[in-house]
Amino acid sequence: MVDPLPRFPDGFLFGCSTAAYQIEGAVHVDGRGQSIWDTFSHTDGKTLHGDTGDVACDHYHRYDQDVALLAELGVGAYRFSIAWPRVQPTGSGVPNRAGLDFYDRVVDVLLAKGIVPVPTLFHWDLPQALEDRGGWLTRDTASHFADYAAHVVARLGDRVRRWITLNEPVVHMAQGYAYGTHAPGRTLLLDALPVAHHQLLGHGLATRALRAAGAAEVMITNNCTPVWPDSAEDAPAAGAYDAFHNRLFNDPVLLGRYPDFLADALGDLVRAGDLETIRTPLDALGINYYHPTKVGTPAEGSPLPFELLPIEGVPTTAFGWPVVPSGLTELLTGLRETYGEALPPIYLTENGCSTTEGTDDQFRVDYLDSHLRAVHDALGAGVDVRGYFVWSLLDNFEWTEGYSQRFGLVHVDFETQVRTPRDSYRWLRTALAAAQENRAL
Ligand code: BGC
Ligand code: BGC
Ligand code: BGC
Repeated sequence: MVDPLPRFPDGFLFGCSTAAYQIEGAVHVDGRGQSIWDTFSHTDGKTLHGDTGDVACDHYHRYDQDVALLAELGVGAYRFSIAWPRVQPTGSGVPNRAGLDFYDRVVDVLLAKGIVPVPTLFHWDLPQALEDRGGWLTRDTASHFADYAAHVVARLGDRVRRWITLNEPVVHMAQGYAYGTHAPGRTLLLDALPVAHHQLLGHGLATRALRAAGAAEVMITNNCTPVWPDSAEDAPAAGAYDAFHNRLFNDPVLLGRYPDFLADALGDLVRAGDLETIRTPLDALGINYYHPTKVGTPAEGSPLPFELLPIEGVPTTAFGWPVVPSGLTELLTGLRETYGEALPPIYLTENGCSTTEGTDDQFRVDYLDSHLRAVHDALGAGVDVRGYFVWSLLDNFEWTEGYSQRFGLVHVDFETQVRTPRDSYRWLRTALAAAQENRAL
């Protein structure tokens, strides 16, 4: 038996996270438009085994059952994402009522079970029609995003109080537009940088739209990683990686400026007033943490100013990602040191690991247990963390890796759609119940 988890502060929010394209399926139902992920996953050779999100977990038709799993688990919150192409099939104009109806039902079922809905407005599934006009490389996409946000909050804002604008703009920029490993599959390397600015501008404009509609709490979710130089002489490369991965997205949102060399690279793209919009005060910062990143100096002539190196000597997940719980404490205390009073409360909006297909997942139990302790350590060091969301409730469409990487507390048989809770689900349920009991004493 593992030791019980340490006590988290009263009101600390435990939850699970998912994303629309990874679980919903029903891609042609109720007027949903095409997204860049439909296009990408249906393009030969882009995903493992040619897997697509056409059916995924069929959550669109099974959300009742999935919300029941959340309720049974005992979490207080559920972070899911809203598919822009369900709400606006071509990315702008009159909203599609049937698409909004779906999220309306999900919200009502959650609230009926006492679970706080925490929707994310953009988890990478841009309407293809907007991509055809340049996607996030163009400034217009930012204002379209704010219009979309306004439509969603107009419909759900009477019941949804907490909102997340973007999920991991760094991953969308890097994998989607720089390396081409995610949709839309562009390989622009450093020329992908405008995607950062336009997403951030969209975030700022959407934040204002949400607030104007009375949203109680708005945050952005950034994927952050502690950056470890391989040796002292790799410090400049590590600094560059830290700037691209972490500071490019945290500095403008929290401090209203870009790291110097990136500000130079962005140049005229950043217009007067943009940084004020991007720095619109946030109620909280969402952080997704998976692992630290080791960085070395690239070979002469490399197109990038850093090289990513493996982290040796630690366990790795099925994905091959290093397991370093102390990296999470390091990340959280580091954010506090870097941003001081400018740092709002933090929610860990994703953390988790992939395992093999079985339901005996002691590996995940250990992963979650050790990372929750790492969060607790950060609390002890004075970092204001308010919640922790497991990625993910269900096995799902893991982007380029298709269905091969399984991140669920609940196993999904993709042939039959049967859901089977794993050991980690039972472990977490027991841990959450114990925490409740503690509180009642
Ligand atoms: C929604 C309904 C919902 C109701 C619940 C309305 O704003 O449109 O679908 O059932 O709120 O309070
Ligand atoms: C990164 C992770 C990230 C993931 C997104 C990986 O390459 O290391 O931090 O969450 O991509 O798919
Ligand atoms: C993303 C998720 C993804 C997870 C695991 C995060 O980068 O937000 O969509 O499934 O990492 O790769």
